Amino acid sequence: MIAEESADLTALPKIELHSHLDCCLSHDAVRRIDPGVSRERYEALFAGPSRCASLTEFLTYTLNYRAMLQTERALRIAVEDVFAQMAADGVVYAELRFAPLVHLREGLSADRVVRCVAEETTRQSEATGIDAGLILCTLRDHDAAQSLATARLVERHSRTGPVVALDIAGDEIAHPLDPHLPAFDLVREAGLGVTVHAGEAGGPESVREALDRTGTRRIGHGVRSVEDPALLDRLRNDGVHLEVCPASNLQTAVVPAPERHPVDRLRRAGVRLGISTDTRGVTNVRLTQEYERLRDLFGWTLADFHAVNRDALAAAFADDPVRRRVGRALDAAYGPPPA
Ligand SMILES: [Zn+2]
Repeated sequence: MIAEESADLTALPKIELHSHLDCCLSHDAVRRIDPGVSRERYEALFAGPSRCASLTEFLTYTLNYRAMLQTERALRIAVEDVFAQMAADGVVYAELRFAPLVHLREGLSADRVVRCVAEETTRQSEATGIDAGLILCTLRDHDAAQSLATARLVERHSRTGPVVALDIAGDEIAHPLDPHLPAFDLVREAGLGVTVHAGEAGGPESVREALDRTGTRRIGHGVRSVEDPALLDRLRNDGVHLEVCPASNLQTAVVPAPERHPVDRLRRAGVRLGISTDTRGVTNVRLTQEYERLRDLFGWTLADFHAVNRDALAAAFADDPVRRRVGRALDAAYGPPPA
């Protein structure tokens, strides 16, 4: 067990449920894919500014990653790279997400994209000891048919590999959920996981829409729920889990300043949540840095980190053997769970 006063946050076992595979490329990985990308060019095109004007501006950086990730080799490099980053952060269980349909420009089929990422994820899991699941994203600007196609990929590939759930990402103000609801119905009825980006650029009403219309019990971000006390009661009473990514919320201008991030208020209000990076490359952040900022800004202790990791484990789309293995890793570091 790790003692409070000597706590090295790097070594603490961590669960990361919200990480976009296609927004994590380090400069080294980008150079393996395209040796012509200098450090300066990487910093201009891949690492976003510390503060964007909006989520919409932030999303423009993700297009540069997408352009890089159009071959099997590039996708495998991305998986290997994010596993190395997670290992350096003490991650013991991760759910990585990506949108298969944006990697088809150079002739890959959607099935080939998912199969290749799934194979490399299994290989890297075995090499690093990090248990992992894959979440396939549809995007708010996809049409209904594209979302349904993504849902069918989730169903098909969950039978043979680490694919566990469907998510929807993208600009939640410009595009409502309606066209995508049949995709969520399909995945939920197949007994698979669903999570929804909401309450980031959109307000509390976007979280309500996600809960009411997709049946999700997990929300990507959801931090703007703090604006609505009745919604906080609902999240707490229904045990809804928020995948909170503090540094990303600052970069997308959802939160005005680090000390005003609602994560601490949400936790004190009894809302279940975990801590993730969202976009390690675009945001230029490591998970350990997220923990250090929570300790320094809000005085979070090992007990707080234990609680958020326990909440994340409870919300994970993991099977029982993985759940037990990850639970043992948490217990070994933080002590047995509170009664
Ligand atoms: Zn996200």
